[in-house]
Amino acid sequence: MTFTRGNFLDATGAAVLDAAVASGQSGAAPWYARCYRWAQINTSEKDVVQYDLPWWREQWKRTAVQGLFVNAAGTEFTQYPSKFPLQRRNRFLPDRDLFGEITEAAHRDGLVVVARMDSSGVGEGFFQAHPDWFTRTRDGQPGNGPCINSPYREEYVPGLYREIIERSRPEGFMDNGGFGGAAICYCENCARRFRDQIGKTLPNSADWNDPVYREWVRWGQARQLEIWDLNNRVTKAAGGPNCVYVGLVRKFQANTRAIAKRSPLLLADSQSRNDEGSFRENADEARYMHSLVGWNSVVSQSMALYHHSHGYFRFASDPPAEARMYMLSGMAGGFQPWYHHIGAYGEDRRMYHTAEPVMLWHKKNERYLVNRTPVATVGVVRSELSSVFYGRGAAPQLMQMPYRGMVRALFRTRIPYLPVHIDDIEPQADRFAVLVLPNIGGMSDEQCAVIRRFVERGGSLIATGVTSLYDADGEPRADFGLAPVFGAHLPGPAPDRMVSPETLHSYLRLRPELRASVFGPHVSDVPRESGPRHPALAGFDETDLLAFGGSLTALRVDPDRIVLCTFVPPFPTYPPETAWMRQERTDIPGLIVGSYGKGKVAFLPADLDRRYMLDTLPDHGRLLGNLLRWTAGDNIPFTLEGSGYIGAYLYRQENRLILHLVNGTGTDNGEQISDEYFPIGPLKIRVRLPDGVKAQSLKFQVSERVARPRVSQGSVEFQVPRLIDHELVVIE
Ligand SMILES: [Zn+2]
Repeated sequence: MTFTRGNFLDATGAAVLDAAVASGQSGAAPWYARCYRWAQINTSEKDVVQYDLPWWREQWKRTAVQGLFVNAAGTEFTQYPSKFPLQRRNRFLPDRDLFGEITEAAHRDGLVVVARMDSSGVGEGFFQAHPDWFTRTRDGQPGNGPCINSPYREEYVPGLYREIIERSRPEGFMDNGGFGGAAICYCENCARRFRDQIGKTLPNSADWNDPVYREWVRWGQARQLEIWDLNNRVTKAAGGPNCVYVGLVRKFQANTRAIAKRSPLLLADSQSRNDEGSFRENADEARYMHSLVGWNSVVSQSMALYHHSHGYFRFASDPPAEARMYMLSGMAGGFQPWYHHIGAYGEDRRMYHTAEPVMLWHKKNERYLVNRTPVATVGVVRSELSSVFYGRGAAPQLMQMPYRGMVRALFRTRIPYLPVHIDDIEPQADRFAVLVLPNIGGMSDEQCAVIRRFVERGGSLIATGVTSLYDADGEPRADFGLAPVFGAHLPGPAPDRMVSPETLHSYLRLRPELRASVFGPHVSDVPRESGPRHPALAGFDETDLLAFGGSLTALRVDPDRIVLCTFVPPFPTYPPETAWMRQERTDIPGLIVGSYGKGKVAFLPADLDRRYMLDTLPDHGRLLGNLLRWTAGDNIPFTLEGSGYIGAYLYRQENRLILHLVNGTGTDNGEQISDEYFPIGPLKIRVRLPDGVKAQSLKFQVSERVARPRVSQGSVEFQVPRLIDHELVVIE
C-alpha cells in the first residue's frame, strides 16, 4: 500500500493500517516525525480487570489520536507476563498481557505505540537477589533504588526492552526516570568507574567548593547521556532503526540541550500549571524545547485532564477551562498535544469530553501548528551550566526566578521574544536585536566572548544581577566576566551568592531627582535637578523613588556610562513612627546604561527580574519593559493594542505568517484554577510584513471567518473583535 500523510490521517477514522505502516517501515516519514496527537492512559494495576478496550479505541478515533503511550513495565510490576522472574506480575490477573493487547489493537487501528517504562525503582526481591545493583550511602547502607552504574542499568533494563520488542513490537520507548539522583552513590561500581575514568576517589560530600565534587557532577551528567545512548543502541538493534528511546525531559533539567541534540523528538513531562507555573510559561517552555531540538521536530507534552494542578486528585476532572487553556497555551508555543488520564476507568466522566474539541481543532489546523519558524527579535538566555554550577542547588531562587520574572515582564509588555540556550546564540546571533541575560551568574570565558562579540557588532544587551561574576565552575571571578561590556566593576570581594527571598524595605532613587518641581509638599534642602530623564525611566516623571526589596553591592562605574538609579538601603517599616530613611542617598548603582562597540547596554545590578516574579510590583514590570523597548528600538515585529493579558506568538511558514493569540485575562494571573473565560476585545494588531509575505488574505481559524487585510507601510493591520480563549490568524 502506498502511504502518505494524507491517507494516514484519513485512514485513522476508517481503514485499517498494518503495523508495518504504523512503524514507518513502508517509506513514509518515521513515526516520531509524523505523529502529532498523542494519548496516554497511564494504567493502574487494577486496569487489568477494567480496561474497556473497545470504548478506548472509539475514544482514540474521536480524538484523532495518532500515537499512544502504553505502560509496559513500571517500578512495581509489569503489565505483561515477563520471563524475568524478578518482574512481579499483576496481582489481579497475573497472566493477562494487557500491554500486548492494547498494542495489538492500536496497531490494528493504525496507531503508533510507545512503551512506557519506569526504571527509577524496582520491586521487592531485587535487593535480595542483587545487592550490588543498589546505591550506597557513604557508610555502605543501601539506598532506595538501583545505581545508574550497575548491571541493572546496563544489562537488566536492556533485557526488558528486548523482551517487550520481541513480544509486541512497540514503535519506541519512553521512561519516566532511571537517571539517578543528586546524592553521591558510594557503591563499588561507582567507586571503580570514577577511579578509572577520573583518576580520583569519590568526593566525601556534596560540597560545591570541592573541585572533586564538581567533577563528580559533570561525570554524572555524562553518565546520563551514556545511558540515553545505550538505551537507543539496544532498542534500535532489537526493533529497527526507528525504534528509538525518547525518555522524558522536565523543565529546567540540567542536560536538556545535550539530550535534544541526540533525540529526534522531545517528550515534555510537565502536565499542568503545577509544573509550569502559568499558561504563559507553558508556551515559553514549548518554545525553549523547540529552540533546542529544532522547529521541524516534534515536541509533545503530557497534558493532564485530571486534577493535576493543586494536589493530585487522579480521579477528579480538571475543570475544562483549566485543562483546555493548558493545552492551548502549549500548542501556541509549539507543543503537540498528548492528553493524559490516570487509570482506564473513571467515575468522574467529565474529563472524557475535554480533549475532543481541542484535538479535532488541532487536526484541522495541523499544517499551521508544525514546521514553522518563530518571529521575534529579543532572545532571553537560559544556561544549564549556570543553573548547575552557579546555582549550586539553589537554581530555583538564583536562576529560575530571574528568568521567570523577565518572561513575565516581556509578556506584560507584549514584546515578542524567544528563549535561547546560551550555547546556541552564536550561530543565530543575527536573528536577535536584543539579548537578555537574567542573572546568568556562571559563564565560561568563551560564553562571555560570544556576548561581547554580539554587542560589539551592534546587538543590544540587558543583563541583571551578578551575570558573569562567576566562572564555569561557579567560582567567583575578581570582576564581572563582562565588566568592559557592562562598564561596571566589582571593587571588593564577590557578594554573598544567596539572596534574601524575603522582601526588604529598600528603594531605588531615580536620577535626575525631579520632585522639587512636581506637585506635592516641598522642603528646602532637596536637589534642584531637571530632566529630561533617560527613556528607560519613561512613565516615572512624578516619582523619585521606586520600591525595590532586594539588596545591592557597591560597584565602580566607567565614566562613559550613566547611572539611572541608586540604592536606598533598608529602613524600618514598623511602627510607622520609625519609618524614615536612615540613609537617603548612596552611590551604589541600581541601573547602568550606555553602549559598548555598536550596541546599547543596560546592566541592572538590582535584581528587578527576580523581584518582579516574587512581588509582582507593576513598576518593576514597567521599568523592565522600558529597558526592552529602549534596547529593541523599532526592531519589534508586531504590536497589539487593547486591554487584557494576552499571549501572542508569531510564526512564519514560507509565504505566510501565523499569529496565535491566547487570552490569559483572569485565568493566568494567579494560582486559582480556571473554570471560566473572560472574553476581551477588540484588539488592534499591526504586523510587519517580511519579504515574501503579501498579506492578501486574513483567515481566523478559531472564529472561522475571513477579513480583508489593510496593508500600509510594509505592515498589515487588523482587528480581533473578541477573544474568548484563543485565536489563530493566518496572514498570506
Ligand atoms: Zn553507584
